[in-house]
Amino acid sequence: MDSHIAKRTPKVFIKKAKEPPYVVDESELRRFDTRNTIFERVVWDSSWEGYKRLYDEKVPEIVSEGKPGYSRVDFALAYASWIVHDSFESGFSWKKICLYREPKATVGIDWTKTKLEVADARRANVFVKRAAKLFGASLVGVCRLKDDWLYAEIDSPDDSWNVIVMAVEMNAGGIATSPAAPAAAVTGVGYSKMAFILAGMGEFIRNLGYEALQCGNDTALSIPLAIDAGLGELGRNGLLITPQYGPRVRLCKILTDLPLVPDEPIEFGVREFCRGCRLCAEHCEAEAISKSEEPSFEVACRSNSPGALKWYVDAEKCYLYWCENGIDCSTCIKVCPYNLASAGQLELSVEEFWEPERDRSA
Ligand code: SF4
Ligand code: SF4
Repeated sequence: MDSHIAKRTPKVFIKKAKEPPYVVDESELRRFDTRNTIFERVVWDSSWEGYKRLYDEKVPEIVSEGKPGYSRVDFALAYASWIVHDSFESGFSWKKICLYREPKATVGIDWTKTKLEVADARRANVFVKRAAKLFGASLVGVCRLKDDWLYAEIDSPDDSWNVIVMAVEMNAGGIATSPAAPAAAVTGVGYSKMAFILAGMGEFIRNLGYEALQCGNDTALSIPLAIDAGLGELGRNGLLITPQYGPRVRLCKILTDLPLVPDEPIEFGVREFCRGCRLCAEHCEAEAISKSEEPSFEVACRSNSPGALKWYVDAEKCYLYWCENGIDCSTCIKVCPYNLASAGQLELSVEEFWEPERDRSA
């Protein structure tokens, strides 16, 4: 392991916080317009360099260069990893998709139309968290739905709505190959797992008679919701840092009217640690992450959501690097000491990724 990195080991002492550990400027805060996400801007924003650039456009050229981790096989895996996320209709549904209540089917009485009476919302938390873990979530938290985090085009539901935020751990060995394509396969698998977890959780809640809006990155900002729900803090790399896995997670959420009790936010010193760390910024090939000591309210590009005190990540530079790389990148996850604390591994060769059991001693 790189000794430069090994020297910096964060201590994780978790404190419960009364308020979420972020600072916002209410006068600047506004609901994010989805049209400003980088993937939307690729389609419509002719004013920037990434317009109409597809991040697989260089794959054939990159494959022909013969670099380890960028072979036809590596790219085939990475692009396959998204398939459940991209094609499973039940994954991101906001309503029941019932395929088996046909006249000839064995299931036909809709007993789910009445609401389960919830006398004690704390019991509902227990059921929801157990179900989420059963479906494959690594971490689960609950918070009230704050309007500020909803995307601009989404109608605000009632004040009493809750959000169940779930984190899915990604494979540490695969991430350790970043920026090579196997790391991107791990990311895609994370997104595909989200679709499975959301489908099960949404249906579970609807079977209790309540509404469940299953969301990935859509509908509302996942990171502030995850912070509200006590899953972690925000890092310099613009990602949620969890005590258990650092930033090596993907996030999804369910918006619901099921009565639940919000979890308390947590603090474990991430902002202070990030002030002196900067490893993600130093290793980012796109130079997209701020190296400033202090966070600020100054956004880096149009794809940032303003109004929070943080190190803004330049999503435009990040995306352009992905186009050059032929696939997305997880280097700012790989090098983060909070990832290394749980993963214990900074680099994994692509050979080791594909053949972990092979004896290399000879
Ligand atoms: S994903 Fe890669 S390019 Fe983008 S900010 Fe992280 S390290 Fe930089
Ligand atoms: S790598 Fe980045 S996000 Fe992780 S602790 Fe260091 S500065 Fe913070």
